[in-house]
Amino acid sequence: MSKTRAVISQLIDLVGREFVLTSEPDTQAYLADWRGRYHGSALAVVRPANVEEVAAVVQVCAVAGVPMVPQGGNTGLCGGATPLADGQSVLVSLSRLNRIRATDAENNTLTAEAGCTLAAVQQAAQAIDRLFPLSLAAEGSCEIGGNLSTNAGGVHVLRYGNMRELTLGLEVVLPDGRIWNGLRGLRKDNTGYDLKQLFIGAEGTLGIITAAVLKLYPRPRSTCVAWLAVRDLQAAVELLGRLRAWVGERLSAFELIGQSALELVIRHIPTMRLPLSVAPDWSVLVELSDPHENAELDRLLSTFLETALESGQILNAALAGSLAQAAQLWALRENISEAQRIEGFSIKHDISLPVGRIPSFLAQADRALQAAWPGVRIVVFGHLGDGNLHYNLSYPALEENNALIARSREVTRIVHDLVAALGGSISAEHGIGQLKRDELRRYKSDVELDLMRTIKAAVDPKGLMNPGKIL
Ligand code: FAD
Repeated sequence: MSKTRAVISQLIDLVGREFVLTSEPDTQAYLADWRGRYHGSALAVVRPANVEEVAAVVQVCAVAGVPMVPQGGNTGLCGGATPLADGQSVLVSLSRLNRIRATDAENNTLTAEAGCTLAAVQQAAQAIDRLFPLSLAAEGSCEIGGNLSTNAGGVHVLRYGNMRELTLGLEVVLPDGRIWNGLRGLRKDNTGYDLKQLFIGAEGTLGIITAAVLKLYPRPRSTCVAWLAVRDLQAAVELLGRLRAWVGERLSAFELIGQSALELVIRHIPTMRLPLSVAPDWSVLVELSDPHENAELDRLLSTFLETALESGQILNAALAGSLAQAAQLWALRENISEAQRIEGFSIKHDISLPVGRIPSFLAQADRALQAAWPGVRIVVFGHLGDGNLHYNLSYPALEENNALIARSREVTRIVHDLVAALGGSISAEHGIGQLKRDELRRYKSDVELDLMRTIKAAVDPKGLMNPGKIL
C-alpha cells in the first residue's frame, strides 16, 4: 500500500469514513479561501470530533511525515487556511469540536472548543448574562480556533482588546500529537513563559488549538449608536480623543468609513440606505455602551455632538432612535467587505499606525498612488479607534483594474514602505498567511525573524504544521 493510502486508511479508522473527505465535490469548499484568491489541494480533509481524535490524527500524520493545515470557518483573508497546491497535506477541519465545555459567571469565563462559531460563543455568554466582546462581520461563520490563531480584532478592540487580551487559557495539540492542557481561568499566573501567547496569532504553524478559556464582561444594557459626517480626517482623530475623555470606558466602537466604501455598500447591498442626505468624504460610526439600564447615553452623546457641530468638526449627525436603527447603521459598516467582494478584485492592505499619524499617512499615500496610477479608486475604512485601516485599491473598469492587479507588488510596496516609515504594521488584524509572507521578510528585522524561526524549529522540528504560511 502506498504511504498516502496507508495514512488515509489510518485516518478513516480513527475518525470514521464519513469524516475523511477525499473526493473533489466533498473537499472543494475547504480548498479555496473566502475571497477566492487561493486554491489548494490536499490528500484528504479530516473532520475529527474531539481533542483525542485531533491528537490521534496529528500522531498519524507526524509519524508519516505528512504536513497538516488546520482550518476553522475558512473566513481568513490571507490564505492561511488554504493548503499549498502540491496536494501533500492533510487539512484538519476543527468545525466538529463545537461544544461550550463550561461557563462560569462568578469567574467571568467561558470554555469553548475551537470549532464553536464566534456567534455561538457570544450567545453562550449572553445565556449567563455576560458579554463576550469580540465582534466582527464574519462572526456567524468564523470559529474561535481561527479567531485565536489570527489574533482577531474587530470592532470593539478599543474597549476590550483583541483575542490575545480576551484569552486566559488554551488547550493545544502539539505537532507530535501530545496534548497541552493549559485551560486555566486565571487572571494572575506568573509561572514562567506565557505559552498560550505563542499559539495565539501563530496561524496554525505551531500546533492545533482545540479549546480556550475566554474572558467575559458585564452585558451592556444601554447602547447608543450614531453616524457622523466629519469635516476631515484630522477632525476624526481629534474627535476620538475628545470623546474618549468625555465618555471614558463607555466608548466601545469608533469606526471610520470613507466615501467610496459607503458608495459600494449602497450600490451592491439592496437593503442599504444612506444614513445622511449625502455620502460625506469621511463618516464615523460611534457606539457607546454601559451595563446600567438608564445610563442616558443619548443625552451624553448629544451634548458632545452639539459642541462638535458648533466647532465645525462634524458637519452632520444621525443618532439611532431604536435598536433597529442602530442595527441599520452597523449593517452599513459590516457590509463593506461583502460589497467589495461583489464589486471585484482589489489590492487590499490591513495596516495599523499610531492614531495621530493616520491623516498624514492617508495624505502621503493618496498622493504617491495617484501619481503612479492616476484615478485609482481608494476604498478606506476601518477601526480608527485602534489605528487600524483597511486601505484597498482598484479601478472601476475591468481592464484597467486587471492591469493594476497585475502590478500588486509595486502598489503594495508604496503603501507598506510608507506604513513602515511612519512606525506602523503591515498586518493589523488579518495575519500573514500566504499573502504577506514575502512582505514579512522585508519589514521584520533579522533578529525578530531569527527568533521566530527558532521558536518554529523548537516547537515543530519537522516543519509539519501549516507549511508555507508566515515564515
Ligand atoms: P480560518 O480562516 O479557518 O483560519 C485562519 C488561520 O487560522 C489559518 O492560518 C488556519 O490554519 C488557522 N487556524 C484555524 N483554526 C485553527 C485552530 N483550531 N488551531 C490552529 N490554527 C487554526 N478579522 C478581524 O480580525 N477583524 C475583522 O473585523 C474582520 N472582519 C472580517 C469580515 C469579513 C466579512 C470576513 C470574511 C473576514 C473578516 N475578518 C476579520 C477575517 C477573519 O474572519 C478572521 O481572521 C477570523 O478570525 C478567522 O477565523 P476562521 O475560523 O474563519 O479561520
